[in-house]
Amino acid sequence: MLKGTKNKAVTTTKVGNKKKTVHTQEPTTFVLQKALGNHALQSIIQRSIMIGEEHKPYSALETWNLLVQERSFPTSAQSSVMEVLLEWDEEDREFTSLDEIEEELGGYEVEVQGENVFFEFSEGDDQIQLADDIIMALFMEYGISFNSRHSFLAIKNSLRLNKEEIGQSEYKKRLKRLDTRTKESWLLEDLKALLEALKYFSPILGRRRVTSPRADFLQEITSFGKIDEDVDFGHTLAETFKESGHIVMYDEGTNEVGEEPSYSEKVDTFVHELTHGLLEHRLDDFKENVPFWTWIDQQERHEERDPSYNRPDYDGEKPPTQVAVQAVHEDFAESVMLFFRNRKNFRMMYPVRSAIVSRIIEQEFGVEL
Ligand SMILES: [Zn+2]
Repeated sequence: MLKGTKNKAVTTTKVGNKKKTVHTQEPTTFVLQKALGNHALQSIIQRSIMIGEEHKPYSALETWNLLVQERSFPTSAQSSVMEVLLEWDEEDREFTSLDEIEEELGGYEVEVQGENVFFEFSEGDDQIQLADDIIMALFMEYGISFNSRHSFLAIKNSLRLNKEEIGQSEYKKRLKRLDTRTKESWLLEDLKALLEALKYFSPILGRRRVTSPRADFLQEITSFGKIDEDVDFGHTLAETFKESGHIVMYDEGTNEVGEEPSYSEKVDTFVHELTHGLLEHRLDDFKENVPFWTWIDQQERHEERDPSYNRPDYDGEKPPTQVAVQAVHEDFAESVMLFFRNRKNFRMMYPVRSAIVSRIIEQEFGVEL
């Protein structure tokens, strides 16, 4: 299991403009020369020659020789590892064993079709190939591409559109925050989770969309990106930017700070966001047919609006999760997510919502459930 701190160690290498593109077949020294320049390379070679048992603890750069001799990892990953070692060297960090270094590094980063993907040392070349296959399949089957640079444009675009609502000073504050945000590397698990989430929506994606009831409308979501943090409130899992056809995954990935979300939590997050992106034109239908929300509407005429709609005094079927309580569109996204996660359970616990979601999906997808 990959923990945040390990991941961080490598992902910090993306800060600044030292980033490089590396091809798998180049010899190590050439790769490093290109990535780091001649001077740095010479010093690494000189220092790594001196390595040996008697020199323990090892400096960060002395470990380089050990790593390449004792462990096999792809050439294309070597410069990303080296950048971390260079940072550690500047901090005068020392290590007593290769295991300790590996534990601290966690893994390495490889550029796969323009996006950085992070692998653990235990994952081999076949896993890199798998990441490549998934990214290709997402594009061919579902018309979805990966572009974390697009995330910055989507956020900027959304801030501009909402400038009046959030006010000039908040707008400037958020733009400034965006400048400090960085592209994050994907984990193989993220890619697998996205593949699984997209399967649920497959009748209205990519090549299958042209024979669906949605054929006359452009596919609403066409790309995904991953950056470290949102610019609004922090602790956001993911965000959908419909006007840009783009969904951003945030590094946080969960509301429990510092904890890596599980695979199924990631699938849930993707399904939730895809519902915002692909099905929200059916929100009025959902709202009109869920008694809780028509009841809330009537209440609001008399009472001050409860920002969380947490209403224990309501007798009927309540919003199914803490997120669903926030607003009707969140209730809709959570309901679709729970419906796909476990249809039988959802039907039993939330029969009203289950019936509406089921009908909407049948109509949108042109399928019988
Ligand atoms: Zn949402």
